[in-house]
Amino acid sequence: MPNMLEGKVAIVTGAGNGIGREIAIMMAGQGAKVIINDVGASVSGEGQDATPAQQTKAIIAQNGGTSEISADSVAGWASAQKIVQAAMDHFGRIDIVVNNAGILRDQIFHRMTVEEWDAVIAVHLNGSFYVSRAAATHFRQQQSGAYVHMSSTSGLIGNFGQANYSAAKLGIVGLSKSIALDMSRFNVRSNCIAPFAWSRMTGTIPAETPEQKRRVERIMQMTPDKNAPLAVFLASDAAKDVTGQIFSPRMNELFVYSQIRPIKSVHRSEGWTPEAIAEYALPSLAQGFSKLERSGDVFSWDPI
Ligand code: NAD
Repeated sequence: MPNMLEGKVAIVTGAGNGIGREIAIMMAGQGAKVIINDVGASVSGEGQDATPAQQTKAIIAQNGGTSEISADSVAGWASAQKIVQAAMDHFGRIDIVVNNAGILRDQIFHRMTVEEWDAVIAVHLNGSFYVSRAAATHFRQQQSGAYVHMSSTSGLIGNFGQANYSAAKLGIVGLSKSIALDMSRFNVRSNCIAPFAWSRMTGTIPAETPEQKRRVERIMQMTPDKNAPLAVFLASDAAKDVTGQIFSPRMNELFVYSQIRPIKSVHRSEGWTPEAIAEYALPSLAQGFSKLERSGDVFSWDPI
């Protein structure tokens, strides 16, 4: 199946670095015309630099592909609409949205500031909504389209110092699942990837203890390009029956995640009191808690 995205137009946000760059390159290599969106911010979301997006464009051109740059931020409704408009202006249509742009403002929860919260929610959660919503009008008109959103195991499981990021990333899962339901009538699909990659974003993970060192060595082997084939597949017509799902590529493994459903129930005909929950329900429900949820050593890079 060569050129799985022939004739399609893709927007990849945050395509100037890391995972987004590799997705943009592979999508162009599979025949898509690509809008490389990136403001060229630091990991914490500060500053602007045109160079990363230009570098991605140069690589795509070297490979014989077609792309254009949009340097507008995903984190505002007006600028997000410009990103989608860039696809219409340059290529006359829009078929694929990859919501990948991201920043980090890690902070232990009791010290997290409102600014740290707002900045991360603005780029990840609001940005994913804005770009998706702007594209939805076109997807509805043409009765087709595919969304691929970057979530994270930090959201699916939780992670130290990342309440802002985790909330945004689990919020993106809810966004994707509801888009999948609302837009299926227009032949539009929406899926999430919880990626793994050694990038500038993960480059700051501490490697002090032997266990941390081993973990970091493992992550360093997970190059960002390992995430691109899954994004291409999910964006292609070969995934026409796949929607509302969450996947992970980890090196050469692919995971699909369970959908959150009740896993254990207890019934009491006279109803529950707080005391009865403590005495009767908890011992039974606790059998359903996962090992990770019980453990004090949850770490988002070990999802299973
Ligand atoms: P990265 O820092 O290498 O790249 C992120 C890009 O987003 C940067 O080029 C940056 O300039 C751009 N960006 C930031 N704010 C923007 C804005 N407002 N508008 C447009 N562009 C903006 O990060 P990465 O590691 O490649 O991560 C890509 C995505 O995958 C992120 O959403 C991240 O949260 C997610 N993710 C990554 C990992 C991992 O292992 N690297 C794990 C889980 C989730």
